[in-house]
Amino acid sequence: MQEDLALALVLRLFSRDGLEQVRGQVLAVPEDKRTESLRSFLAQYDRYWATVEVAVAFLQGRDSTIAHRIASRNFLPEGPRFNALEVYVDPDDPEGGDPLAWAFGALGTLDRARHLATLYLNDLADVLKDAVDPRFEFVRYAESLAQSQPTFEPLAQALAAAPTLVDSLLQTLAEEAIARHQPQVVLLSVPFPGSVYGAFRIAQAIKARHPDLVTVLGGGFVNTELRELKEPRVFDYFDYVTLDDGERPILALLDHLRGKRGTERLVRTYVREAGVVHYRHNPEPDVPFAEVGTPTWDGLPIDRYLSVLDMLNPMHRLWSDGRWNKLTVAHGCYWKKCSFCDVSLDYIGRYDDVAASTLVDRIEAVIAETGQTGFHFVDEAAPPKALRAMAEEILRRKLSISWWGNIRFEKTFSPELCQLLADSGCIAVSGGLEVASDRLLKLMKKGVSVEQVARVTQAFTDTGVLVHAYLMYGFPTQTVQDTVDALEYVRQLFAAGCIQSGFFHRFSCTVHSPVGLHPEEYGITLHAQPPITFARNDVGFNDPTGVDHAALGKALNKALYNYMHGIGLEDDVRRWFHGKMPKTRVPRQFIDRALGYA
Ligand code: SF4
Repeated sequence: MQEDLALALVLRLFSRDGLEQVRGQVLAVPEDKRTESLRSFLAQYDRYWATVEVAVAFLQGRDSTIAHRIASRNFLPEGPRFNALEVYVDPDDPEGGDPLAWAFGALGTLDRARHLATLYLNDLADVLKDAVDPRFEFVRYAESLAQSQPTFEPLAQALAAAPTLVDSLLQTLAEEAIARHQPQVVLLSVPFPGSVYGAFRIAQAIKARHPDLVTVLGGGFVNTELRELKEPRVFDYFDYVTLDDGERPILALLDHLRGKRGTERLVRTYVREAGVVHYRHNPEPDVPFAEVGTPTWDGLPIDRYLSVLDMLNPMHRLWSDGRWNKLTVAHGCYWKKCSFCDVSLDYIGRYDDVAASTLVDRIEAVIAETGQTGFHFVDEAAPPKALRAMAEEILRRKLSISWWGNIRFEKTFSPELCQLLADSGCIAVSGGLEVASDRLLKLMKKGVSVEQVARVTQAFTDTGVLVHAYLMYGFPTQTVQDTVDALEYVRQLFAAGCIQSGFFHRFSCTVHSPVGLHPEEYGITLHAQPPITFARNDVGFNDPTGVDHAALGKALNKALYNYMHGIGLEDDVRRWFHGKMPKTRVPRQFIDRALGYA
């Protein structure tokens, strides 16, 4: 049986009953300590109470007719988050027209209403943060307690503290789920650091009432950060912690629980014995990707998820708006060379693919189960050969679906292949341009050049596929000049219409990446690390270039935000930075030449 307690928690908090409880907590905050969010909430409480359930139903896609009232801006109460609407005003015409009309163009009422309802929920989330629990956020909860934390101590202290309203609701939901299903084993999957604290609170609630119920922890966070786990206190909450793909470890564990194998024959599993943590790994082959079967959403309330419209970035919009079935084309990455990437971890480093017919069988099975035809392929980089075979199979079976996913902008994506993918339902692709600089792309072993990215992205755009570029700054040895040049390439790519969306991420060095494993090859030294008994992932480093990347990052994202709205595309890229910056060394026609226009 599957349960999504994160969703259940949000739905309970954002209900009329939930708001009543939140209001009680807000009233307990002394008047002179109330933030603007809290004052606004109390002043408009009746309207929040009256509208919360209909706003949630609207964001769930169950009540679309209310869009007209929401879009009018006279229906939902508005708190401080609505001030953000001001930033969407066209800087070239600050007095002109309605900011939302500018941001959404002619898209109209439904999107407008969804964005306004999202701001409304964000206001409520701020109220929770200010009055109930400062660690609360929609997509993460108390993230800093787990992320790259060398010891368990901060988490242990937080778990020993009196539960907040959020914690208590989560514990109630956990108890209700246990009562509903009466399980013998509970598996908790924590994909990110922001879900770790919640998982431990759930396990705490289970162990308090049902000490004999077996609890197991796994998921992306564990696979990435808990590879050196030595902390016995983790096992007060979880009996077992498993690494990497779950199928084989869970099958072995179930055998063990049935008395068919000892702990020494567990697979990739931590267990506490006589107060000491042991890693048990009996090497057994993983279940091949061709045989893992089709994911199922069985038991999950797929019509209750919220489709929020937060960012106006078109690709971020795909991530959060609408419900997409998740599948992978293959297991792992076929390239597995990029030096900033966790290529030493199984989920990237072990490539295993499957026949197109099996993949498309899975697609058909998921459609039959969910009634929905949108697919997000969550591969880190979907292999072009497999995508071609999949597209041909989709067309052969005359399936009508839409899909999107991550790729590497490699030259195999010819105009002909891009057209085939678009014909099979591809609506968007995202890929890494990282630091747009041939020198740094080489150092990263990305295996692409800026010219090649221009040609591939244009081929996708020509077929109507939306292209999003992952961009990076702060890579070892990156100079201010490199940063200015990278932005100039990005500007030209937007101006030429090759990409429509992008985001600059700050490079972070992880211990599982080639940079973290061999820092000397990248000219950096790693900061000394304390002894690790709990989590380990990001590691600080000294880069002799000494560039203030944080300040540059702000300018880069400001430029990008404007480029996505078609603003400033003709201007010198130095306009976005503060202070004196070097002139770009990139020829103004570089991308046009790469595309054969100049
Ligand atoms: S960054 Fe992407 S393409 Fe490069 S190795 Fe990692 S997953 Fe593969």
